[in-house]
Amino acid sequence: MPEATYDAVIIGAGHNGLTLAAYLARSGLSVGIFERRHEDGGGVNTEEATVPGFHHNLHAQYMEFIDYMPVYHDFELKKWGARMILPDTQLGITFADGRPPLIIYRPDPELDKKTRKSISEHSKHDAETWLELKNKVMKRDHEIAATLYSPAEAEDSAEAAAGMMSAGLELWQDLGLTMNDIGKAPKVLIDRFFCGR
Ligand SMILES: Cc1cc2nc3c(=O)[nH]c(=O)nc-3n(C[C@H](O)[C@H](O)[C@H](O)COP(=O)(O)OP(=O)(O)OC[C@H]3O[C@@H](n4cnc5c(N)ncnc54)[C@H](O)[C@@H]3O)c2cc1C
Repeated sequence: MPEATYDAVIIGAGHNGLTLAAYLARSGLSVGIFERRHEDGGGVNTEEATVPGFHHNLHAQYMEFIDYMPVYHDFELKKWGARMILPDTQLGITFADGRPPLIIYRPDPELDKKTRKSISEHSKHDAETWLELKNKVMKRDHEIAATLYSPAEAEDSAEAAAGMMSAGLELWQDLGLTMNDIGKAPKVLIDRFFCGR
């Protein structure tokens, strides 16, 4: 409608635009979203981009903590049919030199056995190290998610921020890292934990 007017106009109906529109509309504003593609969703679109029947998310190979995000609960997306499909296999690497592929499965006691087996074909040491580190991190997944999806600092949030920092530090130490390791390149720490043999 060319003559329409809105309190707020959002260009692009990616998930950030849609989230912003939902909060603005909930606060009582009229919102117009304009999308140039044939469907909304931006980077969260799923398309049959290769062969029929194979659905791909073209802009995400991982979706971390999506169902912990405030918007997920604030708008009761589950009630409206949103669901996270968690495939058993999460990532894999193939090697041109004929070594077996390395497959990492979703964190789960049964699937962990398959991850252990896959990494063990390259290094038994690294398989045990991977599972030990992953389990320590997964025990604290709610705390990690909280650091990602916290609202901008409010005056009364100092205590909450201190709590989050101390939880982060505890995890850091639990992983066997020290204050001196903060700021080191990931490769330095990866080489310390994993031997590749
Ligand atoms: C190859 C690739 C891999 C990625 N992997 C991951 C991942 O694994 N995990 C993850 O969390 N993130 C990943 N990302 C990032 C993620 O896709 C983006 O952060 C996310 O899509 C940003 O959302 P958005 O709503 O801001 O923008 P977008 O999703 O980009 O949406 C913007 C929308 O605006 C529309 N638009 C643009 N210009 C106009 C215009 N002038 N008029 C009308 N409409 C317009 C576009 O068509 C689009 O629909 C990846 C990105 C890429 C490119």
